[in-house]
Amino acid sequence: MEQQLFDYTKQDAAGACSTAHAWAKVPAPLTTSERHALAERAAALLKKHNAVLVAHYYVDGPLQDLALATGGIVSDSLEMARFGRDHAAQTLVVAGVRFMGETAKILSPEKRVLMPDLDATCSLDLGCPADDFARFCDAHPDRQVVVYANTSAAVKARADWMVTSSCALEIVSDLHAKGQKILWAPDRHLGRYIQEQTGADMLMWNGACIVHDEFRGLELEILREQHPGALVLVHPESPKSVVEQADVVGSTSALIKAVVEGNAPAYIVATDNGILHRMRQLAPGKVLIEAPTAGNSATCKSCAHCPWMAMNGLANLVDCLESGQPEIHVDEATRVKAQHCINRMLDFTAARKAQTSGMTPGIGAA
Ligand code: SF4
Repeated sequence: MEQQLFDYTKQDAAGACSTAHAWAKVPAPLTTSERHALAERAAALLKKHNAVLVAHYYVDGPLQDLALATGGIVSDSLEMARFGRDHAAQTLVVAGVRFMGETAKILSPEKRVLMPDLDATCSLDLGCPADDFARFCDAHPDRQVVVYANTSAAVKARADWMVTSSCALEIVSDLHAKGQKILWAPDRHLGRYIQEQTGADMLMWNGACIVHDEFRGLELEILREQHPGALVLVHPESPKSVVEQADVVGSTSALIKAVVEGNAPAYIVATDNGILHRMRQLAPGKVLIEAPTAGNSATCKSCAHCPWMAMNGLANLVDCLESGQPEIHVDEATRVKAQHCINRMLDFTAARKAQTSGMTPGIGAA
């Protein structure tokens, strides 16, 4: 079935501008003693405020370590959503990007949701404004609207389904098997990959992740020749020329699982390099090689590390715990509508999980 593209051009301007803003706000590196002092202070504040730290694999290593040491979680966005919803803490502190904080608030309106910096956003979210997206949906009322987690609450409020990279394939396959046509947003690479795998009729929004979009197929070929025994692990937000060379294509959790369980001595990893911290902890002794990007030059906006994820640090985490700001708010009408598509995904994945086994302990759903 022919894939159609919805041409959307605003993302480059908005994304480039916001990338520069994000890099300017990335916290300065800490000395070892500063890091220890701030981590200790943050741990005490988490306890004092009955708060739990919910961190993504792409944030800085010390934040990941703090989350695990204080009873929080480091995971992909699906597990972050589930963990925050089910945890007894009254305050969730989300170390990640804004849509993750919004998702936590949508699922737990009675809880306080804090983030170190609300300017931490995502090129996929920026590239899919709610009004434009609503017009796109209105023009195609015969399609099930499936949106990626990396969207605003307002975009989710317009959707029938939310998916993450760890469940998108299964949910779209299921919809396709039921004869549904799909309107997909916003990541064009992930959408293309799922369309190829499922054969579903998918009408695509034309967004991209600035980190994964920069991985390069030609340079990857050269790197593979230099490391002939290495397995290639690729996140499906990457371009087709990169995905085609993968031994494993999957979500962050699936890529970690591949390293932990794999027999190869070396792995070329095509996703945000923040993930290497957790991979090294869970698979010590294995050689991890970053996949090549557009290059450490003017042509490279992220160089394999998300500037918005990098805005999270120990100092602004302590500040937000001390001041109770910034806090995530989602207006109630939007929240109720957005909750519907997220709950559908959580119910679907919980049902599938009950039917299958094979999880790797400690790394979340694959
Ligand atoms: S890594 Fe990409 S998808 Fe993830 S938050 Fe950053 S820009 Fe968005």
